Amino acid sequence: MRLLLIEDDDRIAGPLIEGLGRYGFTVDRVRTGADGLAASSADLVLLDLGLPDMDGLDVCRSLRATSPVPIIMITARGEEADRVVGLELGADDYMAKPFGVRELVARIRAVTRRTGALPAVPPGPEATPPVPATAPAAQTTSAPQQLGPLHIDRRTREVRLDGRDIALSPREFDLLAYLAEDPGAVHARQQIMDTVWDPHFFGPTKTLDAHVAALRRKLGDAAWITTARGVGFRLTVPGDPSPEDTR
Ligand code: CA
Repeated sequence: MRLLLIEDDDRIAGPLIEGLGRYGFTVDRVRTGADGLAASSADLVLLDLGLPDMDGLDVCRSLRATSPVPIIMITARGEEADRVVGLELGADDYMAKPFGVRELVARIRAVTRRTGALPAVPPGPEATPPVPATAPAAQTTSAPQQLGPLHIDRRTREVRLDGRDIALSPREFDLLAYLAEDPGAVHARQQIMDTVWDPHFFGPTKTLDAHVAALRRKLGDAAWITTARGVGFRLTVPGDPSPEDTR
């Protein structure tokens, strides 16, 4: 699936292109509204509203006037009014910065499903009928997860250890829930930052270490989260045999 990204900010576009690439999307990127309107057709457009040469809403209006291509607006905080206008102009959805790649991919899949958008099929009577989106959206795990003495309920965002409630900040919960999706697997630092924080997180990733330290403290045993040196972290139940000791 080919995406057209209209975004002037390299710090946002770079990580987005990389992150979306990991999900199998091909991304054509332009920096201005004019280039966006001149770009060849894509299967879906990601449109930043704050562009250097024109108002993103005008780009949205022009795109919609000539094409049914699904449009997801990328908006900054404080652009609520623009979002409403954008949706009225025919945008299909919006993402408010900051957001994670995984969240965006879920939104892309939802919009694609809703609009029945397909990788460019020439219009005409012989065109193939819409097919369902390529893959199911990110799995929503509603059943509580039990890992040894650790109980994680993603629906209520509650964590219990040996039946005792553990108070986590929202980010700590997201980090724990993410690591727990695949216990024992090493999650790379950047992968964690992209998913639990957002794809245009820059600078030192010390905040990740701080959250890992807080989780270890709250879980009462540093062995819950082991460090794969130079790579990332993994969640293991303390006492469980580990394939290799990388602490
Ligand atoms: Ca911008």
